[in-house]
Amino acid sequence: MTADTASGVDGHQMLDFVGIGFGPSNLALAIAVMEHNAEPGVTRPVTAEFVECKPEFGWHTGMLIPGATMQISFLKDLVTQRNPQSEFTFLQYLTERGRLTEFINFKTFFPTRLEFHDYLVWAADKVTVPVRYGTRAVSVRDVDGAFEIELTGEHAGVLRGRNVVIAGGLTPHLPPDVSPSARQVHNHGFLHDLERLPSREHNRFVVVGAGQSAAEVAAYLHDMSEATEVHGVFAKYGYSPADDSPFANRVFDPDAVDDFYSAAPGVRRQLIDYHRSTNYSAVDLPLIEDLYAREYAERVAGRRRLFLRGASSILKADESDGGVRVHILHHPTGDIDELDCDAVIYATGFLPAPLTDILGELHGDLVLEAGMPVVSRDYRLTTSRDIAGGLYIQGNTEHSHGLTSSLLSNIAVRSAEILQSIDARRLDCVAGPAVGTQSLS
Ligand SMILES: Cc1cc2nc3c(=O)[nH]c(=O)nc-3n(C[C@H](O)[C@H](O)[C@H](O)COP(=O)(O)OP(=O)(O)OC[C@H]3O[C@@H](n4cnc5c(N)ncnc54)[C@H](O)[C@@H]3O)c2cc1C
Repeated sequence: MTADTASGVDGHQMLDFVGIGFGPSNLALAIAVMEHNAEPGVTRPVTAEFVECKPEFGWHTGMLIPGATMQISFLKDLVTQRNPQSEFTFLQYLTERGRLTEFINFKTFFPTRLEFHDYLVWAADKVTVPVRYGTRAVSVRDVDGAFEIELTGEHAGVLRGRNVVIAGGLTPHLPPDVSPSARQVHNHGFLHDLERLPSREHNRFVVVGAGQSAAEVAAYLHDMSEATEVHGVFAKYGYSPADDSPFANRVFDPDAVDDFYSAAPGVRRQLIDYHRSTNYSAVDLPLIEDLYAREYAERVAGRRRLFLRGASSILKADESDGGVRVHILHHPTGDIDELDCDAVIYATGFLPAPLTDILGELHGDLVLEAGMPVVSRDYRLTTSRDIAGGLYIQGNTEHSHGLTSSLLSNIAVRSAEILQSIDARRLDCVAGPAVGTQSLS
């Protein structure tokens, strides 16, 4: 439901919480709210509203590369691990789309990202909690025992809430010496940026990075036409496989969050290091094998247009009207190759989105440890003084809650935990004691 059709939303209503960002994390939370409010015996429904700066729901649309598959099982959808009987399961989506039997025959746990995107859009369309699309939250203020969330854009104004749930996602990270332009782009907007490319004089692309996205982009460009040349550049000697084996996969289990949260900082770091290859700088093995087969076939045919340059990095990239001249350093030999290409795509990862952009001055009240916000087990940011209510955060808690934090794997269970915390503290307030604040004490 969009805010236009929401009833009783006038910017002055006191909501139980305001959700900032409407990607999968807060979408899962919105569904949890709907299902909670529909439970028999709920006398005081939880009131909430969400804001999303995009004009409509979209999940990393610049990377919806045809054929690219999910890296988690479809059973880790928005709800199943919290409520397998929900109307919002991936299986229910398939049923409504008339594809359940066909999907079963497909014998996969890993649908394409295009199909999962369609599932998420289907779910977002069914949600009845109001969402203000085209609207950005620019600050959160603590005023008279409540939060005021300032909004700009299509539904500009102020929302008031007892709590805030921030799920703003991650920010694309470029190497420090790169100035983004039409020809030097982060992979996050890849498909959109490719369409907007000013010209393609060279039919040659450079893709930087050794992770899943880099490999997907390289394969997509290589498929684009028989004339396109692709150079993958990365510091590793070769792509290495993502570890999705069953024991390692337990690091994403709901219970793993408890283990991680209770562990000492050294143990947390160790666990992340051991299992980094489940998520970072790693590629699904079938894609590695596919790229290898392509490169080998070109060697046999004697006509190369896919070059995977391991142990290498970009020394400099000089841009002109017609393209980018890239200087590629081969680390072992020190050799430098110069290539004229149409664009450089940097698949160089993401960083936590800065909370300052959303919290404004309130950010100064957060307690930090080693530069990272201190977060309680129920995903509340810890503040150095009593503030209006809970500032909850989804994603960006890898340092405290483990590797699953920025992924989809735990969003069904995490939404339930956040909602339960908001509800419990709300009911405590009704019962009497002043628990609408949170501080270190
Ligand atoms: C290409 C790609 C593929 C991926 N594939 C997988 C996968 O297969 N499995 C997996 O587990 N994870 C995957 N991930 C990880 C990804 O982080 C999660 O899938 C998921 O997007 C997390 O959801 P989220 O809602 O926390 O963040 P996001 O999806 O990033 O959503 C955050 C939303 O907040 C909005 N927003 C930000 N700031 C504001 C503001 N101030 N006001 C209003 N709105 C705001 C943004 O517009 C955005 O829509 C993938 C990531 C990428 C980039």
